[in-house]
Amino acid sequence: MPSPVSRRHFLTAALAGGAASPAQLIAAEVASGFHEPARDIPFAEDADVIVCGAGPAGVTAAITAARAGAKVRLFEWRGCLGGIWTAGLLGYFLDFDKPGFAKELREKLDARDARANSKSASRFCYDPEALKLLLEELCVEAGVKFQFHTKVCAAFKEGNQLTTIVTESKAGRQAWKAPVFIDTTGDGDLGALAGCGFKVGDAEDINAVDACPCQPLSLNALLVVKDAEALREFIRFGTPKPGENTDGEKKKRIRDEIVKATGQIPSYASSTLWHVRGNLCFAMFNHEYGVKPWDAAEITAATVRARADMHRMINGLRSLGGAWEGIQIVATAEQIGVRDGRRIAGRYTVKTDDLVKGARYEDGVALVTFGVDVHATTAEHNKAKGAIHTKGVKAKNYDIPLRALIAKDVDGLMMAGRCISGDFIAHSSYRVTGNAVAMGEAAGVTAALAALSKRMPHEVAWTEGLEKLKAIGQRV
Ligand SMILES: Cc1cc2nc3c(=O)[nH]c(=O)nc-3n(C[C@H](O)[C@H](O)[C@H](O)COP(=O)(O)OP(=O)(O)OC[C@H]3O[C@@H](n4cnc5c(N)ncnc54)[C@H](O)[C@@H]3O)c2cc1C
Repeated sequence: MPSPVSRRHFLTAALAGGAASPAQLIAAEVASGFHEPARDIPFAEDADVIVCGAGPAGVTAAITAARAGAKVRLFEWRGCLGGIWTAGLLGYFLDFDKPGFAKELREKLDARDARANSKSASRFCYDPEALKLLLEELCVEAGVKFQFHTKVCAAFKEGNQLTTIVTESKAGRQAWKAPVFIDTTGDGDLGALAGCGFKVGDAEDINAVDACPCQPLSLNALLVVKDAEALREFIRFGTPKPGENTDGEKKKRIRDEIVKATGQIPSYASSTLWHVRGNLCFAMFNHEYGVKPWDAAEITAATVRARADMHRMINGLRSLGGAWEGIQIVATAEQIGVRDGRRIAGRYTVKTDDLVKGARYEDGVALVTFGVDVHATTAEHNKAKGAIHTKGVKAKNYDIPLRALIAKDVDGLMMAGRCISGDFIAHSSYRVTGNAVAMGEAAGVTAALAALSKRMPHEVAWTEGLEKLKAIGQRV
């Protein structure tokens, strides 16, 4: 490929000779693409374990690996730790009744009065600002070196082993080396950059995903209301009062109120309001359909539509007056919530059959108790058949084996959270944050053991991981 300088020189010479019009030359240059010149990037620093993405899975993986004795680097694209919990204003922890770091988080949130008055260990609302602070304190305390506003943008292998990543930030491009990496980007960015195979949505073939048969996206919001008690028939409280409406009835009532206020069924027909504390609530009211999570232009357009949708619905509710008087948005999420990104091929793929049979494994790292939760993939589906579907699959409790967290195609790479290896239906169940935390814990301890003993993650038995978790006080 000619350098941009020599090509421009050639094009200018051709133009001077009158061989082509300026418009033709510009079109020719655009069609031939821009060749970015190669350059040397200094290694910023090495580490034992590099974790890419600081959502529920990544932050847990980084803290656990550091507690297990590894030198850990954690990179995050946004300006806070927590991913969908914080930047995404998710609102609700699900499938969280688990030992280890999940239990520690529950207890630490309780100590700060940051869990929304809930007796349930499995499902509860939380204060997102308190969680941001707690996660930063835990990372600092564990010795995790984390860097915000830093995107992992390239990956390089020696032979079949991932050895180096490149990040992009205000500090420019930086290269980082480690014997073990963990992809916790949610969307599987690192696995894809490293050349791993992956699946997306309901498509068998990645080349056939133009229509993106993925789960829809949702842009959540933090709200204030005048008096949360006065809206109890609509809002889900941590500990319901005896005899109050079920969660299903509350969702139906909110939908009816939105229809009354705006004349339209909400794009997420199971609209939900959760109570955080005082007059503060979370809202999940919208769906964006058919959006490819790796397409920045599509994500941008979806975010703009979703934000307008959210404001329209909240303004509509306020206009109803009564208990809705004074409801207003404090903030919409900085990050639109992506349910469904790349699922990187692992040494095992969690399948629908695992859910149906209630599969248990010796290397089971997370016992999933949450069922199938496929959100409508089209607006028509949402209107006609409701927003959430089980696709006829009745799930029993089942294990995620450690093998599903270890990349099949590339050595030295693990995954945790929603980008692990699983099929579309299984993913719809294990993706919730209690499981992301359990997976992050398993990936973190396994990666640390592998790096410190100069082995690959697939050479570390889960029994070793469990012993180490006990030794560092994350399992009793
Ligand atoms: C709208 C919505 C509603 C949901 N409802 C619930 C619920 O009620 N309860 C529940 O428990 N779960 C729920 N889930 C599921 C759950 O939130 C996710 O599956 C969970 O966030 C998975 O955690 P994660 O750490 O894998 O990913 P994420 O939370 O997505 O974290 C990934 C992190 O990686 C960062 N990142 C991405 N790419 C890069 C890169 N290239 N370089 C650097 N950083 C990068 C992101 O900024 C982000 O911080 C919901 C999800 C969505 C989207």
